Amino acid sequence: MQEPLIEFNPKLPKLSKSESKVLKLLVEAAKLIVPIYLEQEKLADSGINRKEIEEAAKKDPSFLSPYTVIEKVDGKLVAIPYHENYKELLKPIAEKLEEASRHTDNKEFGRALKIQAKALLIGSYDEATIAWLKMKPYILDISIGPVEHFDDEVFFGKTAYQAWVGVMDKEGTERLNNYKSIILSAKKVSVPTERVDNYDKVKAKVLDVTIFSGLLAKTKFVGVNLPSNISIVEKIGSEVTLFNQSNNLRMKEQIMPTFEKIFHREFRQGFGFEDLRRGNLRYIAMHELSHSYLYYRHAEENLQDLFMPIYELAATVLGFRLAGTLLLKDRINNKQLEAMIVAFLCRNFYLAGQNQINKLMANYTLGGTIFINFLLESDALKELKGIAIPNFMKVFIALHDLFRILEQLLASGTRQEAAAFVKRYGK
Ligand SMILES: [Zn+2]
Repeated sequence: MQEPLIEFNPKLPKLSKSESKVLKLLVEAAKLIVPIYLEQEKLADSGINRKEIEEAAKKDPSFLSPYTVIEKVDGKLVAIPYHENYKELLKPIAEKLEEASRHTDNKEFGRALKIQAKALLIGSYDEATIAWLKMKPYILDISIGPVEHFDDEVFFGKTAYQAWVGVMDKEGTERLNNYKSIILSAKKVSVPTERVDNYDKVKAKVLDVTIFSGLLAKTKFVGVNLPSNISIVEKIGSEVTLFNQSNNLRMKEQIMPTFEKIFHREFRQGFGFEDLRRGNLRYIAMHELSHSYLYYRHAEENLQDLFMPIYELAATVLGFRLAGTLLLKDRINNKQLEAMIVAFLCRNFYLAGQNQINKLMANYTLGGTIFINFLLESDALKELKGIAIPNFMKVFIALHDLFRILEQLLASGTRQEAAAFVKRYGK
Protein backbone atom coordinates (compact mmCIF):
# COMPACT_ATOMS: atom_id res chain seq x y z
CA MET A 1 0.00 0.00 0.00
CA GLN A 2 1.23 3.44 -0.89
CA GLU A 3 1.99 5.63 2.12
CA PRO A 4 -0.33 8.68 2.14
CA LEU A 5 2.51 11.18 2.12
CA ILE A 6 4.32 13.00 -0.68
CA GLU A 7 7.22 15.32 -0.03
CA PHE A 8 8.20 17.76 -2.74
CA ASN A 9 11.37 19.70 -3.05
CA PRO A 10 10.48 22.95 -4.81
CA LYS A 11 12.85 25.83 -5.32
CA LEU A 12 11.70 28.31 -2.69
CA PRO A 13 12.17 32.05 -2.44
CA LYS A 14 14.39 33.37 0.32
CA LEU A 15 12.61 33.09 3.65
CA SER A 16 13.40 34.90 6.89
CA LYS A 17 14.71 32.91 9.82
CA SER A 18 11.35 32.80 11.56
CA GLU A 19 9.53 31.93 8.34
CA SER A 20 11.87 28.97 7.80
CA LYS A 21 11.31 27.82 11.36
CA VAL A 22 7.53 28.10 11.01
CA LEU A 23 7.61 26.25 7.69
CA LYS A 24 9.52 23.39 9.29
CA LEU A 25 6.98 23.11 12.12
CA LEU A 26 4.07 23.14 9.67
CA VAL A 27 5.63 20.31 7.67
CA GLU A 28 6.08 18.32 10.87
CA ALA A 29 2.42 18.89 11.73
CA ALA A 30 1.35 17.78 8.24
CA LYS A 31 3.32 14.53 8.56
CA LEU A 32 1.42 13.66 11.72
CA ILE A 33 -1.79 13.47 9.68
CA VAL A 34 -0.60 10.18 8.15
CA PRO A 35 -1.46 7.84 11.08
CA ILE A 36 -4.94 9.39 11.40
CA TYR A 37 -5.65 8.91 7.73
CA LEU A 38 -4.48 5.29 7.92
CA GLU A 39 -6.88 4.70 10.83
CA GLN A 40 -9.69 6.19 8.76
CA GLU A 41 -8.87 3.92 5.85
CA LYS A 42 -9.08 0.89 8.12
CA LEU A 43 -12.50 2.01 9.35
CA ALA A 44 -13.76 2.43 5.79
CA ASP A 45 -13.63 -1.39 5.51
CA SER A 46 -15.66 -1.93 8.68
CA GLY A 47 -18.63 -3.66 7.12
CA ILE A 48 -21.36 -1.33 8.37
CA ASN A 49 -23.84 -0.68 5.64
CA ARG A 50 -25.50 2.50 4.56
CA LYS A 51 -29.00 1.35 5.51
CA GLU A 52 -27.95 0.78 9.12
CA ILE A 53 -26.44 4.26 9.27
CA GLU A 54 -29.52 5.90 7.77
CA GLU A 55 -31.71 4.06 10.23
CA ALA A 56 -29.59 5.22 13.18
CA ALA A 57 -29.54 8.79 11.85
CA LYS A 58 -33.31 9.05 12.18
CA LYS A 59 -32.84 9.21 15.94
CA ASP A 60 -29.45 10.91 16.00
CA PRO A 61 -28.39 13.14 13.07
CA SER A 62 -24.74 13.08 14.19
CA PHE A 63 -24.48 9.74 12.34
CA LEU A 64 -24.56 11.70 9.10
CA SER A 65 -22.16 14.41 10.25
CA PRO A 66 -19.04 14.73 8.06
CA TYR A 67 -16.99 14.60 11.26
CA THR A 68 -18.04 11.43 13.09
CA VAL A 69 -16.69 7.92 13.13
CA ILE A 70 -19.32 5.19 13.18
CA GLU A 71 -18.56 2.04 15.10
CA LYS A 72 -20.39 -0.99 16.38
CA VAL A 73 -20.21 -1.42 20.13
CA ASP A 74 -21.96 -4.52 21.53
CA GLY A 75 -23.96 -4.82 18.34
CA LYS A 76 -25.14 -1.21 18.53
CA LEU A 77 -24.03 1.63 16.27
CA VAL A 78 -22.43 4.66 17.88
CA ALA A 79 -21.25 7.94 16.33
CA ILE A 80 -18.06 9.33 17.84
CA PRO A 81 -16.83 12.83 16.93
CA TYR A 82 -13.48 12.79 15.11
CA HIS A 83 -11.83 15.01 17.70
CA GLU A 84 -12.65 12.51 20.43
CA ASN A 85 -11.89 9.39 18.47
CA TYR A 86 -8.46 10.62 17.30
CA LYS A 87 -7.73 12.71 20.38
CA GLU A 88 -4.32 11.19 21.13
CA LEU A 89 -3.12 11.52 17.54
CA LEU A 90 -4.42 15.09 17.24
CA LYS A 91 -2.72 16.45 20.35
CA PRO A 92 0.83 16.53 18.96
CA ILE A 93 -0.45 18.15 15.74
CA ALA A 94 -2.14 20.93 17.68
CA GLU A 95 1.06 21.40 19.67
CA LYS A 96 3.09 21.88 16.49
CA LEU A 97 0.61 24.48 15.23
CA GLU A 98 0.70 26.27 18.58
CA GLU A 99 4.48 26.28 18.50
CA ALA A 100 4.45 27.65 14.95
CA SER A 101 2.03 30.37 16.04
CA ARG A 102 4.53 31.50 18.67
CA HIS A 103 7.35 31.75 16.12
CA THR A 104 5.60 33.60 13.33
CA ASP A 105 6.03 37.34 12.84
CA ASN A 106 2.67 37.56 11.11
CA LYS A 107 0.07 38.11 13.82
CA GLU A 108 -2.90 37.23 11.66
CA PHE A 109 -1.29 33.97 10.56
CA GLY A 110 -0.41 33.14 14.15
CA ARG A 111 -3.99 33.73 15.21
CA ALA A 112 -5.34 31.50 12.44
CA LEU A 113 -2.90 28.75 13.44
CA LYS A 114 -4.21 28.88 17.00
CA ILE A 115 -7.82 28.72 15.84
CA GLN A 116 -6.87 25.78 13.62
CA ALA A 117 -5.16 23.96 16.50
CA LYS A 118 -8.26 24.43 18.62
CA ALA A 119 -10.51 23.23 15.79
CA LEU A 120 -8.61 19.95 15.61
CA LEU A 121 -9.04 19.41 19.35
CA ILE A 122 -12.67 20.44 19.84
CA GLY A 123 -14.19 20.14 16.37
CA SER A 124 -14.79 23.87 15.68
CA TYR A 125 -13.93 23.44 12.00
CA ASP A 126 -16.13 26.20 10.59
CA GLU A 127 -14.48 28.80 12.80
CA ALA A 128 -11.07 27.74 11.45
CA THR A 129 -12.29 27.74 7.85
CA ILE A 130 -13.59 31.28 8.26
CA ALA A 131 -10.34 32.49 9.89
CA TRP A 132 -8.33 31.19 6.92
CA LEU A 133 -10.74 32.64 4.39
CA LYS A 134 -10.48 36.06 6.00
CA MET A 135 -6.69 35.97 6.15
CA LYS A 136 -4.80 38.42 3.91
CA PRO A 137 -2.39 36.86 1.36
CA TYR A 138 0.75 35.60 3.08
CA ILE A 139 3.86 33.80 1.91
CA LEU A 140 3.32 30.64 4.03
CA ASP A 141 0.26 28.45 3.69
CA ILE A 142 -1.17 25.42 5.42
CA SER A 143 -4.42 23.52 5.26
CA ILE A 144 -4.83 20.75 7.81
CA GLY A 145 -7.72 18.71 9.15
CA PRO A 146 -10.74 16.76 7.94
CA VAL A 147 -11.62 18.50 4.69
CA GLU A 148 -12.49 16.63 1.53
CA HIS A 149 -15.05 13.87 1.37
CA PHE A 150 -14.14 10.24 0.99
CA ASP A 151 -15.42 8.94 -2.28
CA ASP A 152 -16.98 5.97 -0.63
CA GLU A 153 -20.48 4.59 -0.91
CA VAL A 154 -20.93 3.65 2.71
CA PHE A 155 -19.11 6.60 4.21
CA PHE A 156 -20.61 9.06 1.80
CA GLY A 157 -20.39 12.46 3.41
CA LYS A 158 -17.59 11.66 5.84
CA THR A 159 -14.48 13.77 5.53
CA ALA A 160 -10.94 12.45 5.46
CA TYR A 161 -7.94 14.04 7.14
CA GLN A 162 -5.38 15.67 4.93
CA ALA A 163 -2.83 18.45 4.88
CA TRP A 164 -0.77 20.56 2.54
CA VAL A 165 1.97 23.04 3.30
CA GLY A 166 3.35 25.47 0.75
CA VAL A 167 4.97 28.77 -0.07
CA MET A 168 3.21 31.28 -2.28
CA ASP A 169 4.31 31.43 -5.91
CA LYS A 170 3.96 35.19 -6.36
CA GLU A 171 4.15 35.29 -10.13
CA GLY A 172 1.71 32.40 -10.58
CA THR A 173 -0.67 33.93 -8.04
CA GLU A 174 -0.64 37.24 -9.88
CA ARG A 175 -1.40 35.54 -13.18
CA LEU A 176 -4.23 33.53 -11.64
CA ASN A 177 -5.76 36.62 -10.08
CA ASN A 178 -5.54 38.38 -13.39
CA TYR A 179 -7.54 35.56 -15.03
CA LYS A 180 -9.93 35.66 -12.13
CA SER A 181 -10.63 39.35 -12.42
CA ILE A 182 -11.37 38.96 -16.12
CA ILE A 183 -13.61 35.92 -16.07
CA LEU A 184 -15.43 36.46 -12.81
CA SER A 185 -16.50 39.91 -13.89
CA ALA A 186 -17.25 38.98 -17.51
CA LYS A 187 -20.62 37.49 -16.78
CA LYS A 188 -22.62 40.32 -15.32
CA VAL A 189 -25.82 38.37 -15.45
CA SER A 190 -28.64 38.29 -12.99
CA VAL A 191 -28.29 35.26 -10.81
CA PRO A 192 -31.26 32.93 -10.60
CA THR A 193 -32.36 32.28 -7.04
CA GLU A 194 -31.51 28.58 -7.26
CA ARG A 195 -27.85 29.54 -7.55
CA VAL A 196 -25.57 30.94 -4.88
CA ASP A 197 -23.67 33.96 -6.11
CA ASN A 198 -20.22 34.20 -4.60
CA TYR A 199 -17.89 35.27 -7.37
CA ASP A 200 -16.95 38.58 -5.88
CA LYS A 201 -15.74 36.67 -2.83
CA VAL A 202 -13.32 34.27 -4.48
CA LYS A 203 -9.68 34.27 -3.44
CA ALA A 204 -7.03 32.59 -5.57
CA LYS A 205 -3.44 31.54 -5.03
CA VAL A 206 -0.73 29.36 -6.54
CA LEU A 207 1.61 27.48 -4.22
CA ASP A 208 4.93 25.75 -4.37
CA VAL A 209 4.10 22.85 -2.10
CA THR A 210 6.52 21.05 0.16
CA ILE A 211 4.18 18.32 1.40
CA PHE A 212 0.88 16.53 0.79
CA SER A 213 -0.41 14.11 3.39
CA GLY A 214 -3.52 12.04 4.05
CA LEU A 215 -6.21 11.99 1.39
CA LEU A 216 -4.54 14.67 -0.74
CA ALA A 217 -1.45 12.46 -1.11
CA LYS A 218 -3.80 9.90 -2.70
CA THR A 219 -5.89 12.19 -4.90
CA LYS A 220 -2.84 14.32 -5.81
CA PHE A 221 -5.12 17.14 -6.86
CA VAL A 222 -3.57 19.97 -8.85
CA GLY A 223 -6.23 22.45 -7.78
CA VAL A 224 -8.91 22.75 -5.12
CA ASN A 225 -11.76 25.14 -4.45
CA LEU A 226 -12.72 25.14 -0.79
CA PRO A 227 -14.68 25.07 1.44
CA SER A 228 -17.38 22.68 0.28
CA ASN A 229 -19.78 23.97 2.94
CA ILE A 230 -22.13 26.03 0.78
CA SER A 231 -23.40 28.25 3.58
CA ILE A 232 -19.85 29.42 4.35
CA VAL A 233 -19.24 29.93 0.64
CA GLU A 234 -22.33 32.11 0.46
CA LYS A 235 -21.51 34.18 3.54
CA ILE A 236 -17.72 34.44 3.50
CA GLY A 237 -16.54 33.20 0.11
CA SER A 238 -14.24 30.51 -1.20
CA GLU A 239 -10.63 30.07 -2.18
CA VAL A 240 -9.00 28.47 -5.21
CA THR A 241 -5.57 26.97 -4.60
CA LEU A 242 -3.30 25.55 -7.31
CA PHE A 243 -0.25 23.40 -6.64
CA ASN A 244 2.72 23.63 -9.03
CA GLN A 245 4.34 20.42 -7.84
CA SER A 246 1.36 18.10 -8.24
CA ASN A 247 0.91 19.60 -11.70
CA ASN A 248 4.48 18.55 -12.55
CA LEU A 249 3.80 15.11 -11.11
CA ARG A 250 0.65 14.69 -13.18
CA MET A 251 2.52 15.75 -16.31
CA LYS A 252 5.09 13.03 -15.72
CA GLU A 253 2.73 10.26 -14.62
CA GLN A 254 -0.29 10.87 -16.81
CA ILE A 255 -0.28 13.63 -19.39
CA MET A 256 2.99 13.04 -21.25
CA PRO A 257 2.76 9.22 -21.49
CA THR A 258 -0.83 9.53 -22.75
CA PHE A 259 0.08 12.34 -25.15
CA GLU A 260 2.72 10.09 -26.75
CA LYS A 261 0.22 7.28 -27.05
CA ILE A 262 -2.96 8.85 -28.39
CA PHE A 263 -1.76 11.52 -30.83
CA HIS A 264 -0.10 11.28 -34.18
CA ARG A 265 3.55 12.32 -34.45
CA GLU A 266 2.84 15.34 -36.60
CA PHE A 267 0.17 16.56 -34.22
CA ARG A 268 2.53 16.09 -31.29
CA GLN A 269 5.15 18.31 -32.87
CA GLY A 270 2.80 21.24 -32.37
CA PHE A 271 2.99 21.03 -28.55
CA GLY A 272 6.09 20.97 -26.39
CA PHE A 273 6.29 19.85 -22.77
CA GLU A 274 6.11 23.42 -21.47
CA ASP A 275 3.00 24.18 -23.60
CA LEU A 276 1.22 21.20 -22.09
CA ARG A 277 2.43 21.83 -18.56
CA ARG A 278 0.97 25.29 -18.68
CA GLY A 279 -2.09 24.06 -20.55
CA ASN A 280 -2.74 21.50 -17.83
CA LEU A 281 -2.40 24.05 -15.01
CA ARG A 282 -4.51 26.57 -16.94
CA TYR A 283 -7.46 24.30 -17.59
CA ILE A 284 -7.44 23.30 -13.93
CA ALA A 285 -7.27 26.96 -12.90
CA MET A 286 -10.28 27.68 -15.09
CA HIS A 287 -12.07 24.61 -13.73
CA GLU A 288 -11.62 25.77 -10.13
CA LEU A 289 -12.68 29.34 -10.88
CA SER A 290 -15.72 28.06 -12.76
CA HIS A 291 -16.98 26.26 -9.68
CA SER A 292 -17.93 29.73 -8.45
CA TYR A 293 -20.64 29.88 -11.12
CA LEU A 294 -22.05 26.46 -10.37
CA TYR A 295 -23.27 26.49 -6.79
CA TYR A 296 -26.82 25.37 -7.48
CA ARG A 297 -28.68 25.09 -4.21
CA HIS A 298 -30.63 21.90 -4.91
CA ALA A 299 -28.36 20.15 -7.39
CA GLU A 300 -26.84 17.75 -4.91
CA GLU A 301 -30.13 16.53 -3.46
CA ASN A 302 -31.74 16.35 -6.92
CA LEU A 303 -28.99 14.47 -8.71
CA GLN A 304 -27.79 12.41 -5.74
CA ASP A 305 -24.94 10.06 -6.68
CA LEU A 306 -24.73 11.59 -10.16
CA PHE A 307 -24.22 15.10 -8.84
CA MET A 308 -20.44 14.94 -8.48
CA PRO A 309 -19.51 13.67 -11.95
CA ILE A 310 -21.86 16.20 -13.58
CA TYR A 311 -20.80 19.08 -11.38
CA GLU A 312 -17.10 18.40 -11.94
CA LEU A 313 -17.44 18.01 -15.69
CA ALA A 314 -19.57 21.17 -15.88
CA ALA A 315 -16.78 23.11 -14.15
CA THR A 316 -14.22 21.99 -16.73
CA VAL A 317 -16.49 22.65 -19.71
CA LEU A 318 -17.43 26.09 -18.42
CA GLY A 319 -13.73 26.65 -17.73
CA PHE A 320 -12.94 26.17 -21.43
CA ARG A 321 -15.72 28.51 -22.43
CA LEU A 322 -14.48 31.18 -20.04
CA ALA A 323 -10.96 30.63 -21.38
CA GLY A 324 -12.53 31.84 -24.62
CA THR A 325 -12.96 35.18 -22.83
CA LEU A 326 -9.24 35.21 -22.05
CA LEU A 327 -8.58 34.58 -25.73
CA LEU A 328 -10.79 37.49 -26.77
CA LYS A 329 -8.88 39.74 -24.38
CA ASP A 330 -5.53 38.51 -25.72
CA ARG A 331 -4.53 37.08 -22.33
CA ILE A 332 -3.93 33.73 -23.97
CA ASN A 333 -3.50 32.81 -27.64
CA ASN A 334 -5.11 30.10 -29.79
CA LYS A 335 -2.27 27.70 -29.23
CA GLN A 336 -2.49 28.08 -25.45
CA LEU A 337 -6.21 27.43 -25.53
CA GLU A 338 -5.63 24.33 -27.64
CA ALA A 339 -2.95 23.10 -25.22
CA MET A 340 -5.54 23.26 -22.43
CA ILE A 341 -7.90 21.04 -24.43
CA VAL A 342 -5.10 18.63 -25.36
CA ALA A 343 -4.07 18.30 -21.71
CA PHE A 344 -7.65 17.58 -20.64
CA LEU A 345 -8.05 14.99 -23.40
CA CYS A 346 -4.87 13.29 -22.19
CA ARG A 347 -6.14 13.26 -18.61
CA ASN A 348 -9.42 11.68 -19.72
CA PHE A 349 -7.86 9.06 -21.94
CA TYR A 350 -5.48 8.25 -19.11
CA LEU A 351 -8.32 7.77 -16.59
CA ALA A 352 -10.48 5.84 -19.05
CA GLY A 353 -7.55 3.57 -19.94
CA GLN A 354 -6.88 2.42 -16.38
CA ASN A 355 -7.48 -1.33 -16.00
CA GLN A 356 -8.88 -0.85 -12.58
CA ILE A 357 -10.95 2.23 -11.94
CA ASN A 358 -9.33 4.25 -9.19
CA LYS A 359 -12.20 4.61 -6.74
CA LEU A 360 -11.11 8.06 -5.66
CA MET A 361 -11.21 9.20 -9.28
CA ALA A 362 -14.44 7.47 -10.30
CA ASN A 363 -16.36 10.74 -10.71
CA TYR A 364 -13.64 12.24 -12.91
CA THR A 365 -13.33 9.05 -14.95
CA LEU A 366 -17.06 9.09 -15.64
CA GLY A 367 -17.03 12.81 -16.50
CA GLY A 368 -14.05 12.32 -18.79
CA THR A 369 -15.73 9.45 -20.60
CA ILE A 370 -18.83 11.58 -21.14
CA PHE A 371 -16.63 14.36 -22.51
CA ILE A 372 -14.84 12.07 -24.99
CA ASN A 373 -18.06 10.43 -26.19
CA PHE A 374 -19.80 13.75 -26.59
CA LEU A 375 -16.94 15.05 -28.76
CA LEU A 376 -16.91 11.84 -30.79
CA GLU A 377 -20.64 12.07 -31.40
CA SER A 378 -20.33 15.74 -32.40
CA ASP A 379 -17.55 14.85 -34.84
CA ALA A 380 -15.26 17.25 -32.97
CA LEU A 381 -12.99 14.32 -32.18
CA LYS A 382 -12.22 11.45 -34.50
CA GLU A 383 -10.61 8.20 -33.57
CA LEU A 384 -8.61 6.27 -36.08
CA LYS A 385 -6.82 3.06 -35.03
CA GLY A 386 -6.37 4.31 -31.49
CA ILE A 387 -5.17 7.74 -32.63
CA ALA A 388 -7.22 10.78 -31.55
CA ILE A 389 -7.76 13.60 -34.03
CA PRO A 390 -9.39 16.71 -32.57
CA ASN A 391 -10.85 19.58 -34.58
CA PHE A 392 -10.50 22.50 -32.18
CA MET A 393 -13.08 24.73 -33.82
CA LYS A 394 -15.66 21.94 -33.60
CA VAL A 395 -14.58 21.13 -30.05
CA PHE A 396 -15.42 24.66 -29.05
CA ILE A 397 -18.85 24.50 -30.61
CA ALA A 398 -19.54 21.11 -29.03
CA LEU A 399 -18.48 22.47 -25.63
CA HIS A 400 -21.19 25.07 -25.90
CA ASP A 401 -23.86 22.41 -26.41
CA LEU A 402 -22.45 20.18 -23.71
CA PHE A 403 -22.44 22.99 -21.19
CA ARG A 404 -26.08 23.82 -21.88
CA ILE A 405 -27.06 20.25 -21.02
CA LEU A 406 -24.91 20.12 -17.87
CA GLU A 407 -26.11 23.48 -16.62
CA GLN A 408 -29.72 22.50 -17.10
CA LEU A 409 -29.13 19.29 -15.14
CA LEU A 410 -27.54 21.24 -12.29
CA ALA A 411 -30.17 23.95 -12.25
CA SER A 412 -33.30 21.83 -12.41
CA GLY A 413 -32.55 18.29 -13.58
CA THR A 414 -33.81 15.15 -11.88
CA ARG A 415 -31.81 12.05 -10.98
CA GLN A 416 -33.66 10.26 -13.77
CA GLU A 417 -32.69 12.81 -16.42
CA ALA A 418 -29.09 12.70 -15.26
CA ALA A 419 -29.14 8.89 -15.44
CA ALA A 420 -30.40 8.98 -19.02
CA PHE A 421 -27.63 11.39 -19.99
CA VAL A 422 -24.98 9.28 -18.25
CA LYS A 423 -26.30 6.13 -19.87
CA ARG A 424 -25.99 7.67 -23.31
CA TYR A 425 -22.47 9.09 -22.97
CA GLY A 426 -20.88 7.40 -19.98
CA LYS A 427 -19.84 4.07 -21.48
ZN1 LIG B 1 -13.70 20.58 -9.20
